[in-house]
Amino acid sequence: MTGPDRTEFYERRATLVRQAVEKRKEAENYREMFVGCAILYRALGEYRTKDGANWMLKKGGCKMCAEKEALLDAITDDGFEEVIAIVVVGNLQADDHSGRKPPTLHPCKLCRDMFQFFRLGPSTIILTIRIEGEFLRAEDLIYQEQNLLALLEYHRLDTDTNGSL
Ligand SMILES: [Zn+2]
Repeated sequence: MTGPDRTEFYERRATLVRQAVEKRKEAENYREMFVGCAILYRALGEYRTKDGANWMLKKGGCKMCAEKEALLDAITDDGFEEVIAIVVVGNLQADDHSGRKPPTLHPCKLCRDMFQFFRLGPSTIILTIRIEGEFLRAEDLIYQEQNLLALLEYHRLDTDTNGSL
């Protein structure tokens, strides 16, 4: 990733976190697993953001991930160029696919596959934030920042044959 994109992310980091936390309030989930996402991307030479919230009203029912909603919105924007960062805020849970228990909520397998399908760069910043209950104080949040390559490696199973970046 080039320097200016990274600088732009750090300048907007706090705002992006607030955006994801705010959007999370629109989430609906029968298990009360609420997730909010904010994405920083570049389109037509300028930096823009989109956000999303998850919903799943009943077990086995239709579901939408916060990351998917935000990403589809971003990549279909006029002149979309590149995703710079994905910020995810949610309650902690183990990964359904890899069985890993990261310190923060990571994008699920379907979302990780989607990131690869849309050819997000390996250095795309993935900022995941654990939130417990209501958003009260900054101390209630636990941050984990890595790039997409590290996220994929962390969840890669020995049996996985696809998904090389
Ligand atoms: Zn997902």
